[in-house]
Amino acid sequence: MTSAPAAAVDPTEEVVRICRELIRIDTSNYGDGSGPGERAAAEYVMGLLTEVGWEPELFESAPGRASVVLRIPGTDPTRPALVLHGHTDVVPARAEDWSVDPFGGVEQDGMIWGRGAVDMKDMVAMMIAVVRDMGRTGWRPQRDLVVAFFADEEAGGVFGARWAVEHRPELFDGATEAISEVGGFSVEVDGRRAYLLQTAEKGLAWLRLLAEGSAGHGSQVNEDNAVTRLAGAVARIGAHPWPQQLGPTVHQLLTGVAELTGTRFDPEDPASVAALVDALGPAKKFVGATLRTGSNPTRLDAGYKANVIPGTAEASVDVRFLPGEEEMVNATLAELAGPGVRIEDIHRDIALEVPFSGDLVDHMVAAIGAEDPGAVVLPYMLSGGTDNKSLARLGITGYGFAPLQLPAELDFAGMFHGVDERVPVDALRFGVRVLARLLRTC
Ligand SMILES: [Zn+2]
Repeated sequence: MTSAPAAAVDPTEEVVRICRELIRIDTSNYGDGSGPGERAAAEYVMGLLTEVGWEPELFESAPGRASVVLRIPGTDPTRPALVLHGHTDVVPARAEDWSVDPFGGVEQDGMIWGRGAVDMKDMVAMMIAVVRDMGRTGWRPQRDLVVAFFADEEAGGVFGARWAVEHRPELFDGATEAISEVGGFSVEVDGRRAYLLQTAEKGLAWLRLLAEGSAGHGSQVNEDNAVTRLAGAVARIGAHPWPQQLGPTVHQLLTGVAELTGTRFDPEDPASVAALVDALGPAKKFVGATLRTGSNPTRLDAGYKANVIPGTAEASVDVRFLPGEEEMVNATLAELAGPGVRIEDIHRDIALEVPFSGDLVDHMVAAIGAEDPGAVVLPYMLSGGTDNKSLARLGITGYGFAPLQLPAELDFAGMFHGVDERVPVDALRFGVRVLARLLRTC
């Protein structure tokens, strides 16, 4: 007697269930280690992978800060390995601001709603669905595939990707390239669909400004007031007009947008640049911040009573610098801060920029083209950061490629860390098809 073959599982169906279940595991990352769910998410991922015969490894950088890595041998051992990575943590959500429970994994109106729906439990679910399909049906990528699910990306990856590359670099042996989040999504430009592939990231410097002065009574003359000194520095840094500087990625993107819209692109003309950025619709939130370095004051802290002048005052500033500008930016900030204000790093990470060319890029473009014939793929720079910054420390070139075909009216950029974060079910299914196609061919 033979047993009936197991019913075929369709990864483009399964991805929906996995994404919803991942959202229901609250993995909020508060940045202080108090987040509740990374361990539970890692165990959930382990369960899904071991169920289909894989032997992934779960490791913790600190109690509860769990990541999962699985290495899948490719069919061509002469090829370098490819890293496919995602993060399981999310930024916190205030339930009272949302139309649905942010941790309910609700499916309605053709969308999956919840914190992490686009950042990035969507891609994590796509990765799991494709890797489970490999496990069940036996197909293999050509290149060794290192599939990683990291903790702590939302606080800079110190307990996730950064920890892994520093303490477990052997996990990435032989890897030259990586694929992860915030790229591969579609935008509509002048009625035509274009996909933005992320080939660059701004660098980041979260800074503390510390002003010192003479403490004293609020009624007396004080020409050495730390609050006055700090406020001046914060205002100058916050209002600084950083120069517009179009690097190769942004230049290539805007050239492509100009072709789609049939308009002229003059990189020296701010009006021409602004019009092309506008043509990207909601995605201009991403692209508008990549034309220049930015410096936003984010916190202020000083004093304890209205009539007491404190001896110190403190502020935080979030600086996002363009590739190649870090030294210039440091010098400019020191000048803007002025005497008596010290600048310290809270967290700093590198900028990235690689050419929009090469074998892997060609395969990503082809995989999109096969699932959406006639669509254009353009490079873009992310104004934020991803775990690709950590992998770059091992010489691994990272791309943002979490493919999603999106309705033109969806404010995708606004979903990131936003209220009512959601992803179309059809976009998830599309992503699974593109990702599977890419991994079969690249
Ligand atoms: Zn993310």
